[in-house]
Amino acid sequence: MQITSFHPPRRTLMGPGPSDVSDRVLEAMSRPTLGHLDPAFIGMMDEVKSLLQYTFQTQNELTFAVSAPGSAGMECCFANLIEPGDRVIVCQNGVFGGRMRENVERCGGTAVMVEDAWGSAVDPDKLEDALKAHPDAVLVAFVHAETSTGAQSDAKTLVQLAHQYDCLTIVDTVTSLAGTPLYVDEWGIDAIYSGSQKCLSAPPGLSPVSFNQRAADKISARTTKVQSWFLDLNLVMGYWGGEGKRAYHHTAPVNSLYGLHEALVMVQEEGLENAWARHRDNHLELRHGLEAMGIEFVVDPQHRLPQLNAIAIPEGVDDAAIRSRLLHEFDLEIGAGLGALAGKVWRIGLMGHASNLKNVEFCVSSLRAVL
Ligand SMILES: *Cc1c(COP(=O)(O)O)cnc(C)c1O
Repeated sequence: MQITSFHPPRRTLMGPGPSDVSDRVLEAMSRPTLGHLDPAFIGMMDEVKSLLQYTFQTQNELTFAVSAPGSAGMECCFANLIEPGDRVIVCQNGVFGGRMRENVERCGGTAVMVEDAWGSAVDPDKLEDALKAHPDAVLVAFVHAETSTGAQSDAKTLVQLAHQYDCLTIVDTVTSLAGTPLYVDEWGIDAIYSGSQKCLSAPPGLSPVSFNQRAADKISARTTKVQSWFLDLNLVMGYWGGEGKRAYHHTAPVNSLYGLHEALVMVQEEGLENAWARHRDNHLELRHGLEAMGIEFVVDPQHRLPQLNAIAIPEGVDDAAIRSRLLHEFDLEIGAGLGALAGKVWRIGLMGHASNLKNVEFCVSSLRAVL
């Protein structure tokens, strides 16, 4: 059989990510590939770094994009900050907290779990109890925006608490970055990772990360080697760190980085505050439309993520059949429930470029048609 070129259908992506990528970003990715040590490319990488510093609201020097998806950014934070024997408090209120635990254990650390119900925010009182009970803990990790449930936790308060008990913090902002307020320096977040394909609306495969001086100091003070050669920040920074002397570490995904650059330029053009407000406004529109159909949200209003709307599947409705009809009849993707919420909820993403009024109307009318 002669296999021919692949031409994907045009879908509207309103699931948990990837979100719709704008033509501007796709066009940027089709520009000529440069050598990854070419001065023109290095100049662009420096711009990616400053655009990421803006998007994260940080001055951290150690800010760059890991050449792999969000899960690799997660692993990069854990692998570099944990040494065997470290005790780490992990707050879990959905799927991604469970992955944090996996990371801690695989790095030779011991995870102390602080559990909250799926769909709830992380409870600061429970974190404080765990910090009191485990004075030897060195790190606290939590997810700012739990994509599996649509709940947002109070990152500022959780980081403050961790610092009160002399712990560093690792914060997952894969879904929150550029979608909901986030101030890395003001909140004192020590290590943070995100993803390119959620509210940044770039294609999947890159993970923005940032580390403050305290985190960098803990990494330099390590007495053991980082278990992952690829993610060892001491080596990666020889490449991203710059000052004109970039050493070969791995071949950067050149055209993907053009895409991220363009997506970040678009965030800067719009302005972060405007992007946050747009995500909030479109969420409210979606809420009006869905509630008018009698559909209920799963998360309490004060903890709801505007970019990830978890809604209860109405009684007697066939979850998979409806999602399949939306995909095939409307070219519309929405997300299924995960883990404890599988079969119980749909997850409607309004992320980045996909967070617009046209998509809100389209999603509500399509759902009405198939229900
Ligand atoms: C999507 C997501 C990840 C993982 O990112 P990938 O790019 O799929 O590896 C991690 N954490 C959260 C909260 C996410 O939403």
